[in-house]
Amino acid sequence: MAADRSCGSCSMCCKLMGISELDKAPGVWCPNFKRGGGCAIYHDRPTECRTFECEWLREPRWPDDWRPDRSKFVMFTEEGGKRLKIVVDEGAPGAWLSEPYYSRLKRMSQKVHEGQRLIICIGQRRIVVFPETDIDLGVLLDSDKIISGYDDAGVPYARVLSQNEAHEAR
Ligand code: SF4
Ligand code: SF4
Repeated sequence: MAADRSCGSCSMCCKLMGISELDKAPGVWCPNFKRGGGCAIYHDRPTECRTFECEWLREPRWPDDWRPDRSKFVMFTEEGGKRLKIVVDEGAPGAWLSEPYYSRLKRMSQKVHEGQRLIICIGQRRIVVFPETDIDLGVLLDSDKIISGYDDAGVPYARVLSQNEAHEAR
């Protein structure tokens, strides 16, 4: 966590993130969250809650309007930083397309050239963001694996790995 950062009144991860230790699905408020009171089991909250830090909390370079309760999305990295996920509140599915967010997300997607993938998650819908385009893969299953990159002609692609490909990759 950045030294000058704290969650304050933001609790968006308590809604947008899935918590496996609680069997809590993404996109619904945690039953332990009390509006105006925060987490009712704060001292006994699961490890996932204790250790989670969204990008806004981790990095002081994000302005205040990127705090998740204002932006309506939570950003975090996976796979050692190779995947940047933006989990958008389904109550505001277009939030990431508004400014000041979209322009900066497009600039951030340049990191695809350094091996980072930027994925928008709206419920089970997945959109892979490239500098040139956004590829909407529609509604996916949890088990679906996304592959993306540039083809030999330099055209961006994103698709779900077929079962045969997934089997061969094992
Ligand atoms: S989404 Fe980020 S800033 Fe908001 S409560 Fe969670 S960790 Fe804190
Ligand atoms: S247990 Fe507490 S910190 Fe964890 S998601 Fe629920 S309300 Fe938030």
